[in-house]
Amino acid sequence: MSYDDVEIEDMEWNEELQAYTYPCPCGDLFQITKDDLRLGEDIARCPSCSLYITVIYNAEDFAGGTSKKPLEPSKQQPVAVA
Ligand SMILES: [Zn+2]
Repeated sequence: MSYDDVEIEDMEWNEELQAYTYPCPCGDLFQITKDDLRLGEDIARCPSCSLYITVIYNAEDFAGGTSKKPLEPSKQQPVAVA
């Protein structure tokens, strides 16, 4: 049984964790990444306790996402050697 059902809109994007978060009653945060969502995962877990929540979202918003830009890995600039 999940602790709660939470809509993705009610969750908060955390830049540091690169994950959607939602306050856990233990004081930590439930977390789920965009990759998880893209894979169809809908369980956000708390790293500090055994609770988890079910995330309500539209899978199409994340599947193969064209509307939202995925994070780009920092590109290595080739260095021209003189
Ligand atoms: Zn917790």
